[in-house]
Formats: sequence, structure tokens, C-alpha cells
Amino acid sequence: MILIRLAEIFKEAVFPTKCIVCGSFFRFSGKNDSLYIKDSADKPFEPISITFEKLMAPFICADCLEGFLPAESPVCCMCGFVFKSREGKDHLCGKCIEFPKRFGKASAAGLYYRTFMEVIHSFKYKGKLQLAGPLETLLFSVLMLHWNINDFDLVVPVPLHVKRFRERGFNQAYVLVRDWGKRAEKLMPEPGCLKIGRDVLERTRYTEPQTGLGREKRMKNIKGAFTVRDASALEGKRILLVDDVYTTGATADECAKALLESGAMSVDVLTLARAV
Ligand SMILES: [Zn+2]
Ligand SMILES: [Zn+2]
Repeated sequence: MILIRLAEIFKEAVFPTKCIVCGSFFRFSGKNDSLYIKDSADKPFEPISITFEKLMAPFICADCLEGFLPAESPVCCMCGFVFKSREGKDHLCGKCIEFPKRFGKASAAGLYYRTFMEVIHSFKYKGKLQLAGPLETLLFSVLMLHWNINDFDLVVPVPLHVKRFRERGFNQAYVLVRDWGKRAEKLMPEPGCLKIGRDVLERTRYTEPQTGLGREKRMKNIKGAFTVRDASALEGKRILLVDDVYTTGATADECAKALLESGAMSVDVLTLARAV
């Protein structure tokens, strides 16, 4: 044990960690908690900012850790929009009153801004797959904060078009949920809870990246992009749709449309980040 600790101290002294957000070097002296799993569903889950800090401390310097903004109440109880005012209860935002979504509720871990934006970019585009485990744990914690494992029959990651899948080599939404079956069983030993429906949805139409498009253009761009492969798997099912970032909700809404039209009972949405 002492030898291991000495080796760690030596490693920290000689090879400090490079912050994946700002690139500066820092000394991480804590325990690498990045795959920590809660062992019981009875204990309350911690606020998301604390979970973020625990999971990301081995990768991010203290200054950048502070730049994470959790998506905390008051938020829109439909799309999850984080209201500027930090007082009052959750309520519907103006957009959701005007254009209600097809899904029930969308929740996220944090705002797509500075630290979290860079973390997600590193994971998605820069091949930092060491972030996959911590981000998966973070997302699972958000699920447990807002819902219960028993609230869903099926977790559906938003699929990539096969062309984009080949370019990137992995579907980030699937990587974020692939171990949830095991996690759920540990917390609540019920056979078959939280099934992952990896191939339930298919992205049959290739779409240009949604970046930089406004709400209407995004809706038009994504319309009819998803097809349900096996509708019999969806009949009466409560679905949790998962993606990395929620921007205008156009993608989530289009997926919800396809799932509901194929017989799903309800669709809720969970993402790592939410656009500001
Ligand atoms: Zn930093
Ligand atoms: Zn809203």
C-alpha cells in the first residue's frame, strides 16, 4: 500500500496532469473516483455539482471545475430550460407553452458552456475515451436525481447515421448508457430493469450538423430522419431517450414522434448538457 502511494506521489511530481479544459498542468492528489458506483438506491444522490467534481477532478484543474454550471431548478418542467432567475419553482417556459413538446420531460446534468462544453468536445471529437466512464456515471446520477429506475422500460440512445458512425467510430449516446443495465441491477436487483434499446431507432436520413441552425431550420433539417426498426418492442413502453447535448429539442422531439407513433406509451429525455 505504502509503495503504491509512494509511486503515486512520484508520478504526480514528475508527470503532473494536464487539464483537458484549459491545458494547464495541475497536481491531482485525490483518489481516482471516476468510476465510482453508488451501491444503494435508498441513499439520496448528491447534488450534481458535487458528483461532477468527484468524477472530473482527475482530469480538470480546480479553476475549470468551478466553471461547471449544473442544470438546477428552477427549470422548465418540459424542456429543462434553466431560468436565469435562481428563485421560484419549476414551471413551463414560454416556448413550451407556445409549442408543446411531444416528450414529457427533459433533464440534463449541466449547461453546455465553457468547462462542460470542452469536456463533451474532448470526449466526442478528440477521442478522449477515458471520459466515457465518468460521463456515463454522471448521467446515471442525473437519472437517479430526477426519476427512478422503475420509471422506464427501455433506454433508447439517439442513433447516429451510419455515415457519421463510421467517421466517429462510436455513438456517444450509446457509450453513455451501455452499462446501465448492470448499474441498475446493482442498485435494484430486479431482472431486466433498464433494458438498453440500442437498435430500436435508426437514423435513416443523413442530416447536416445542426450547429448554427435556428429552431425552425433545425426542425426542418431533422424532420423524418428517424425510423423505428421494431415497433413490437415499443408497445406500451415507457422510454427514456438519451443524447449528449440538448440544443433546441428538435432532435429529441423528432425521436419522440417516431417512438410514440410506433406505440410507445411515453418518452422522457436525458442529456449530459443543455444549451444555454
Ligand atoms: Zn483547467
Ligand atoms: Zn420549456
